Amino acid sequence: MKFIFGGGTVVALLVLISDTYFSKKKPTQKIMFIFLGAPGSGNVTIAERCVKDFGFATVSTGQLLRDAMARGDVLGKQAEGFIKQGQLVPDELVADMVDEWLTRNIDKIDTLMLDGYPRTEKQAQMLDALLKQKFPHITTRLVKINISDDAIVARIADRLTCENKSCSAIYSRKLLQAGQETCPSCGSKLIRRADDQEAVVRERLKVHAQHADALLTFYKNAGVRIDELNVEGKTPEQVFADFKKLL
Ligand code: AMP
Repeated sequence: MKFIFGGGTVVALLVLISDTYFSKKKPTQKIMFIFLGAPGSGNVTIAERCVKDFGFATVSTGQLLRDAMARGDVLGKQAEGFIKQGQLVPDELVADMVDEWLTRNIDKIDTLMLDGYPRTEKQAQMLDALLKQKFPHITTRLVKINISDDAIVARIADRLTCENKSCSAIYSRKLLQAGQETCPSCGSKLIRRADDQEAVVRERLKVHAQHADALLTFYKNAGVRIDELNVEGKTPEQVFADFKKLL
């Protein structure tokens, strides 16, 4: 058998091979969900289910800040006063924390659900700039969660959180067995978060409302796909079923 290649063909083949084997592989396209909803509106439950059922990843800026507080590092000390009063931590601190987290983790992730970020228009602008500059392969989608303040307050008053940082599961007191004080998932103690008291919750809702319209307008203008979920009076199962239809 005889193969006849002209010189041009050989060069083209070599270029093709070196492109395939030696050039930097293009990063694969990823999706990042942002939730626009009041604290306690249910995005954590959706994210937990997506992690379990679809292998998505999730990160909570509130949890990263609480971890920093527990470690007692500089960020934790800077954030503590704001968190205890239900106020937002300064935008730059949270944006740097998110940048650092994404840089460290994004390679391992296909679909990411951001929990609690961005919460202000400034944060949305900083996130947008960060994505354009460092992570252009991430496509943003926004899910707006609709629920009334009263339903949120009732929900948070009923909520218990696992104190084990690597678990952090959230439970409804009503749905747990009477007197259950430990996490059904990992056995650690269940606690009420310090900022889950009604006065602090009302403050957090006020802060959310102050920023919600500007955030929505920002993402509308950015041409991001926006979906809405009405969660009032629905069980976590129903909410998750509705969310799945958006995927
Ligand atoms: P969360 O666990 O999302 O309810 O957040 C708890 C607290 O952490 C908030 O009330 C804020 O004080 C702070 N926090 C979390 N995420 C942000 C953010 N994106 N911007 C500013 N502060 C935040």
